[in-house]
Amino acid sequence: MNYRKSIVALGTVLLFLSCATNPFTGKKTMAFVSNDQLFPSSFSQYDQFLTENKVVTGTADAEMIKRVGQRIAVAAERWLNANGYEGYLKDYQWEYNLVNDETVNAWCMPGGKIVFYTGILPIANGETGVAAIMGHEVSHALANHGQQRMSAAYIQQGLAVAGNFAIKDEQTRNIFNQSYGIGSNVLGMLPFSRSHETQADEIGQMIMAIAGYNPDECAELWKRMQAQSGGQAPPEFLSTHPSNETRIANLTKNAAKAKAEAKKFGVTSFK
Ligand SMILES: [Zn+2]
Repeated sequence: MNYRKSIVALGTVLLFLSCATNPFTGKKTMAFVSNDQLFPSSFSQYDQFLTENKVVTGTADAEMIKRVGQRIAVAAERWLNANGYEGYLKDYQWEYNLVNDETVNAWCMPGGKIVFYTGILPIANGETGVAAIMGHEVSHALANHGQQRMSAAYIQQGLAVAGNFAIKDEQTRNIFNQSYGIGSNVLGMLPFSRSHETQADEIGQMIMAIAGYNPDECAELWKRMQAQSGGQAPPEFLSTHPSNETRIANLTKNAAKAKAEAKKFGVTSFK
């Protein structure tokens, strides 16, 4: 057996040994990096990002970001608890910050570390639009999409074999930077796959509805994104989240499903 084949074979074995369950699909996903390894990298990168950027505090917009974030986090926890995933968020350290930057972007790093740029607020067009973006970004983190992207990077680099026994902190850090791009250049973040986008759309829409925000807003938000993309400066958000007719059609269709899920939690009116 040649070297490459044996790496693949070992990788396949480890794939089954190093899995996490995605609570929203019930499916096993790759997780060469545990939250214990991942979250400290995430938290320190986030803190560093905040010290190097202009965090807005005490304004109505900054308060709104925190308020929406808290409501989304509570809704996510309610859903997870109701579906047998108590304790899933125990290592999360939720934080929601608004950063003064004209870039049209927002993101959530592993463990619940969220940033909104002031540049995305006009497209969000109010609290419900913010909730739509927040729900989507938080869902990438909840479904471990970043972790899967990191695990894929480990396999690509043949690190999975060594990694399973002793992933060095430095390797974790390098792959973290590669997968999230925060350390070097936040705008260089890799796009998620289309299936991850669809999943984050669906989970996000459900969570925002449980939080009491109208899930009909999602399609409207993406229409505004699309309109903006025709302008002189397409939103940075669109480089990682391409908007298209299919996406808008799905969001329109899934809004009813999200409302039905919210009803199970006693939420029947939305703002
Ligand atoms: Zn996304």
